[in-house]
Amino acid sequence: MARSFNSTVLQMWRKPREVSILADLSRLMAAAAHEIIEHQESSRFFSWMQLEAPTRFPEFFDQAGDGQARRAMATSLGLALWNATPLPDHGYRPAPLAPAEGQDPCPCQSAEPYVACCGRFAAFPGLETEQMWLYVVEELSDEQLWQVGRAGVLPPVELEGASRRLLDGGSPRRALRLLAPLFSDPSKLTAEHEPLLGPLLQAFAAIESGMPGTALKRLSSTLRPPLSGALELRHATFLADAEQWEEAWSCFARAQREDPRRQALPAVEAFLLLTEGHPSRAALRARFWLAQRRRAEPTHGSAIGVFLQQVSADPQATRAAYVHTGAPRPCQDFLAAMLRLD
Ligand SMILES: [Zn+2]
Repeated sequence: MARSFNSTVLQMWRKPREVSILADLSRLMAAAAHEIIEHQESSRFFSWMQLEAPTRFPEFFDQAGDGQARRAMATSLGLALWNATPLPDHGYRPAPLAPAEGQDPCPCQSAEPYVACCGRFAAFPGLETEQMWLYVVEELSDEQLWQVGRAGVLPPVELEGASRRLLDGGSPRRALRLLAPLFSDPSKLTAEHEPLLGPLLQAFAAIESGMPGTALKRLSSTLRPPLSGALELRHATFLADAEQWEEAWSCFARAQREDPRRQALPAVEAFLLLTEGHPSRAALRARFWLAQRRRAEPTHGSAIGVFLQQVSADPQATRAAYVHTGAPRPCQDFLAAMLRLD
């Protein structure tokens, strides 16, 4: 009893502190990305870490303790940041430095041997290049973003994170510069690129004020199945959120035709029918899909199956539970949730 009380108190005490350290680290990573990309020079960056970082991020460096420990923290954190940061002059790949050892001069530029200086303290664990990319994309020029996209430097997962970061920061045009080169040659695209369709549609929609139009039509005529179906399914939810039901349903039909095996299709169809205000048709379609699924795969209990059962049993209650009128983009959000279960 006493122990669980103590551990609860401990958690309450630790949590805000950990959160604020993470926020500080995130600000420090952004500032380091700025510094590194601007000069692309390691010794200059290490001086910056020693002179600037502890005063700009006291909340973070105060954790370290006294002067020498802070110095060591600036050194090892600087090394982790530098080693993870992709450099434009290095083909957008990091140029990692070997860690100092023993009698090497200490990288903090104290003129002491490493072992007697920063080497006395524990090293900061390495950072992932994937994490640094999120900050680096914000520092690159439009031309550099285009180069990164064209050179195919970033794997799809990282490209998705980086383009979402630009979108969230209110730069849809810059997100498009990163994504467009890849989509200019659809023959190179595979199923792995599907997660990029979401940010791509969002960028189109932001630029063409509200609804993806011309650029999307061009893309949809060149993509091949199953990617073309995946694009149509996303477009259908965009249109549904704008209550353009006729267009939404024709996109949905194309999605069904071009990627019929997609697990999320039945749930999205039922959700769109509920949202449009056709509960009995939604229940009918859910029953149809459930019967199909029983034939195809006798296992029950998946989240999509449970949703379809709810729609079939009580569409009105399901509508009340799932369809939140007033949410900015309920159909897109529902699809995103279904795709995570797919
Ligand atoms: Zn040192």
